[in-house]
Amino acid sequence: MSHQPKASRRTFLTNSAAAIAGCAAVKIATAAATDSIESVIDIHQHTNYAGRTDAQLLAHQKQMGITRTILLPAGIPVELASTHGGQSNGLAARIWGNSAAYRLVRAFPDFYSYFANEVPDVPGAVKEIEKHLNLGAIGIGEQKFNIDVDAKPMHEIFALAQAHRVPVLIHFQHRMYNHGLDRFHKILEQYPEVSFIGHAQTWWGNIDKNHEQSELYPKSRVTPGGISDRLLADYPNMFGDLSAGSGLNALTRDEEHAAAFIERHQNKLFYGSDCDDTAGAGDACSGAGALAAIRRLAGSSEVERKVLFGNARRVIFRDRM
Ligand SMILES: [Zn+2]
Ligand SMILES: [Zn+2]
Repeated sequence: MSHQPKASRRTFLTNSAAAIAGCAAVKIATAAATDSIESVIDIHQHTNYAGRTDAQLLAHQKQMGITRTILLPAGIPVELASTHGGQSNGLAARIWGNSAAYRLVRAFPDFYSYFANEVPDVPGAVKEIEKHLNLGAIGIGEQKFNIDVDAKPMHEIFALAQAHRVPVLIHFQHRMYNHGLDRFHKILEQYPEVSFIGHAQTWWGNIDKNHEQSELYPKSRVTPGGISDRLLADYPNMFGDLSAGSGLNALTRDEEHAAAFIERHQNKLFYGSDCDDTAGAGDACSGAGALAAIRRLAGSSEVERKVLFGNARRVIFRDRM
């Protein structure tokens, strides 16, 4: 590792308190107590994820130490090529749609927010998404369908996002979902007011200039300059969602690279979990793994706070939180 590990805030405060006698020490201790709940935004979770209940989801999020969670709904169940004839309904994980996310946000407004979603090529898709943007959804996604990312229905969704000034979260997966990452720069140029959030295996695999497209979870060392790395560097409206096994793999496959990657894209990365376990901790929980990896690899607490909180607050919530 080339970068120096940072001192944790707790260690710093303890040392400071020990070094200063009297009132000053008391003040510092008070400050430490009020700051002990660190705000963390998880930009990627789902209702009924692989059958997980609302109560289990809430417990999972609390266990990870999340203070606000964004719910990403599925579209309606349909048998179209875009859903692999129905096999990818529920985002291929039994996830529920807009109404379920909306209900959970209404029940826990201080804890949940949501995006709006729909299968892009069903009739009325734009109308359904817009209905939920008007009900309080703060973005669109996750878009996870068997379609070219620059197909006409996708353009209609991006135009809606541009009109409402909301982000779009896209699951890129080779030969499965959202084909055409290599052409995505054209979309970024065409919709400069839309913040696009890249997610999943093909998005993260392509941080590597030498990425083999059929490889979903590559373990080799990373050569910087892959498609995703360049999109993040060159386009102010491109962002990355560190959730799921794919995000965690990008952090852990080559930690020296990951530390430098976080440093250079420190204003463009969001923490997300996207795991369907009930534990919220340990090896089964990739969300807890990603939290630990970000805390380990961020070069300073300032950068760590950006990735865990500040970037999502600025870009997705547009400072309205
Ligand atoms: Zn997801
Ligand atoms: Zn988890």
